[in-house]
Amino acid sequence: MSYDKVEVPESGEPVTVAEEGEDGLEVPENPIIPIIHGDGIGQDVGPAAQKVLSKAAEATGREVNWMRLYAGESARQKYGEDVNLPDETVEAIREHRVAIKGPLTTPVGAGFRSLNVALRQTLDLYANVRPTYYLDGVPSPMKAPEEMDMVTFRENTEDVYAGIEWEQGTEEVEKVRNFVEEEMGFDETMHEGPIGLGLKPISEKGSKRLVREAIDYAIENDRDKVTLVHKGNIMKFTEGQFGDWGMEVADEEYPDDEVFAAPDSLWEEQDEVDIPEDAVMVEERLADAMLQWMQLRTDEFDVLAMPNLNGDYLSDAAGAQIGGLGIAPGANFGDNRCLAEPVHGSAPKRAGQDKANPSALILSGRLLFEYLGWDDTGQLIRDAVEQTISSGTVTYDLARQREDAEKVSTTEYAEAICDNIDDLA
Ligand code: NAP
Repeated sequence: MSYDKVEVPESGEPVTVAEEGEDGLEVPENPIIPIIHGDGIGQDVGPAAQKVLSKAAEATGREVNWMRLYAGESARQKYGEDVNLPDETVEAIREHRVAIKGPLTTPVGAGFRSLNVALRQTLDLYANVRPTYYLDGVPSPMKAPEEMDMVTFRENTEDVYAGIEWEQGTEEVEKVRNFVEEEMGFDETMHEGPIGLGLKPISEKGSKRLVREAIDYAIENDRDKVTLVHKGNIMKFTEGQFGDWGMEVADEEYPDDEVFAAPDSLWEEQDEVDIPEDAVMVEERLADAMLQWMQLRTDEFDVLAMPNLNGDYLSDAAGAQIGGLGIAPGANFGDNRCLAEPVHGSAPKRAGQDKANPSALILSGRLLFEYLGWDDTGQLIRDAVEQTISSGTVTYDLARQREDAEKVSTTEYAEAICDNIDDLA
């Protein structure tokens, strides 16, 4: 594809699909990787992360050729006031299979769809994956934050992300009310007077492919358990059905000695269940109970799979347990596709001050590299970030919780990580 305002790097090769229609990528040692720095603190953490990721790749014998793409404010500056997500940004990510992005601002109010959601939906990046693990030296509100080593798989294309709502006072909302009351027979369900109504779709396709991703991840990474988290006791035909479809995947698509679908795990303790040795156990939990167990029995959970809204709450709460947004990484996966991005947003009040913490974006890059099969590069990144923080070199967000630490700028922090990469490589 030829681009209008995007500069294609002079050297480097694209990542491609190994065999059309099959799962698996062909990854050169010098890939072209698209990057969006992002809005707000994206201008600070974007370049810092780019520097650290290049350094780690180089230290493990590889070369990243970055291809800068534009979205949000940078797109409006380059393409014109009305352009928030240029077509060529989306197409470049589609063509290059993998990319990394910083945060993008979603102004509050009507008429502006979230660019983050638009990207995930347009590219059918159906699994939002967030590993939550503790790094030594990060201040945490928990007594034993090191017990957290969990990976959340959040469905990315339906539930409230594809929710349909009707505004109170409109002709449409009254039409839906009448249909539900009169034609569907729910004539005593809704209060009289103004009302807002919404629909949340949860499909077999969306649920099963998400749970499959989570189970495959558990198998490949020697994890013991996948927990399906939903609110099926209240919403039986959406949330509950998610659980049923998930258990069907576990039960029907894998041999019992590889994946064991724990019967009745929603209501009964599974201590007595005879699970085949080395099998991944798949269980169900209710979302409200899960939020407390995650804090009280942290080390019992491993991989979680859930619909969109539960995943939103749970992954942020899990992130808080290991020290907060500045260090929480994430990535969105589709079939042969990955868009890595931190959990945090554009933090406008910290923008452009060279003070924000770039760790979350750097560790999102680690996820992307591991997706490319560069596990050694990923481990080096994790070790270098951990060494930097535990030695007391930190950005403002962690410094305000640690009296023994030295507060440095975003740029200085990235330089310290690069020095540690040199030490560790
Ligand atoms: P936010 O940008 O994540 O920031 C909330 C607060 O978290 C910041 O003010 C800061 O706290 C702390 N923080 C976040 N990232 C940090 C970092 N890298 N280093 C240090 N501290 C960090 O959340 P928000 O203010 O609710 O959202 C702002 C905008 O971002 C909104 O437009 C929202 O829609 C968008 N957003 C985008 C994404 C995405 O691109 N995927 C995700 C979430 C939100 P202190 O000020 O207390 O230090």
